[in-house]
Amino acid sequence: MMTPEQYEESLEKLNLSVYMFGKKITALGADPIIRPSRNAVAKTYEMAQHPEHKETMTAISHLSGRRINRFTHIFQSTRDLVLKSKMGRLLGGATGCCFQRCVGMDALNTLSIITHAIDQAKGTPYNQRFLKFLAMVQEQDLVCDGAMTDPKGDRSLAPHQQADPDLYLRVVQERPDGIVVRGAKAHQTGALNSHQIIVMPTATLRAADKAWAVSFALPSDHPGITYIMGRQSCDTRKLEGHPMDVGNLYYGGHEALMVFDDVFIPWERVFMYQEYEFSGPLVEKFTAYHRQSYACKVGVGDVLIGATQTIAEYNGTAKASHVRDKIVEMNQLNESLFCATLACAHEGHAEPSGTWIVDALMANVFKYNIAHYPYVLARLAQDIAGGLVVTLPSEADFRSPETGPLMEKYYRGTAGSSTENRMRILRLIEAMTMGAQAVGYLPESMHGAGSPQAQRIMIARLVNIGQKQGLAKHLCGIREG
Ligand code: SF4
Ligand code: FE
Repeated sequence: MMTPEQYEESLEKLNLSVYMFGKKITALGADPIIRPSRNAVAKTYEMAQHPEHKETMTAISHLSGRRINRFTHIFQSTRDLVLKSKMGRLLGGATGCCFQRCVGMDALNTLSIITHAIDQAKGTPYNQRFLKFLAMVQEQDLVCDGAMTDPKGDRSLAPHQQADPDLYLRVVQERPDGIVVRGAKAHQTGALNSHQIIVMPTATLRAADKAWAVSFALPSDHPGITYIMGRQSCDTRKLEGHPMDVGNLYYGGHEALMVFDDVFIPWERVFMYQEYEFSGPLVEKFTAYHRQSYACKVGVGDVLIGATQTIAEYNGTAKASHVRDKIVEMNQLNESLFCATLACAHEGHAEPSGTWIVDALMANVFKYNIAHYPYVLARLAQDIAGGLVVTLPSEADFRSPETGPLMEKYYRGTAGSSTENRMRILRLIEAMTMGAQAVGYLPESMHGAGSPQAQRIMIARLVNIGQKQGLAKHLCGIREG
């Protein structure tokens, strides 16, 4: 397994084509906006080195028998799935943000199932190719970026009906040695911190969309790939040189638009091509895994609850009964979320490939709640924090000899607390509920791994409504043929 330092070095060797604020960025590691997101991924390497987190953060490879980072593991039991949920909470708490490495883990597990299923049905060589790729990922302890979400253009049209067919990533040329692809993947979490990209189709496709039914892997710095960094609320505070105003001093996430401009993929890295009938099952498996992964938000919720309790103590309101009650509500909601991510793992099963997967109904219910409860937690945190969370002057004013003493005097809370600490915790709550960190806690909870309506559709599909009707009809004596 790589150390965090080796991970940093490995990223420095990549030659990514990245644009941000209208300029090409080369020194990614030194960029103050990108740096916190790198730190967050590096945490997945650091925690794997801690003996006390060994069981949660690492696993034994079913391929090599060697100890590997859990983010590169193919799940072999319900215990593995449970530990995945626990790892998400652990890292969410340690970073307070998105640590970006889950999409690749979920893509690996999905492809271990789907390549096997396609081969069984069609005699294709996908699974062997995939396992070779997986062995490299495990051996070198790589970060994979799972690239699924196409830009989609007009949502009412299928890929082949779009005015611009590139709005869904597609194969534009088939060659004896591989395929050439064109298109883009949007909202790519952690793209700039990844070694490999794993592309998968984003939707259930039909025969007319065969050219869009494609899955493959390639190095993140492959020629022809361009990254355009997404903005985050308050992102330029990271450039101001006053870390207190950023809230979270160390960690952050990032998303980017990833554009593929006629990129060649050799056959040995192609894991699906034209098997459109497997796109639906692929999406279903991936979303079940990735919806479970939102255990990360339970850990981020732990941070927000801790921040809320702290500001209540600094404000002198911690003993007020309504404040105590609201913090209980925050905990009850957050632990309810944890119950669901653990439940979908405990109710997992083995697929024919031998890979274990979570219970899809429970994973969808969990992610649906993830799209709701963090918003309630954020509202309660803002309620308890008070208006200062949005009216507090800057750190520069606090450091100024003219205004600093005035702020020191007038922003003082309880006698035992310091003004500076009060400002720090308020900035963290601000960042997590409306600033750069809020991206990872709120809209990402809403739309990441699919928007809530996608989960409602899956809940409707997966629930056995007939069985429930049977129970009711039996009890009141309804006999219908
Ligand atoms: Fe992982 Fe959560 Fe970030 Fe998604 S949002 S990549 S599940 S940490
Ligand atoms: Fe996600």
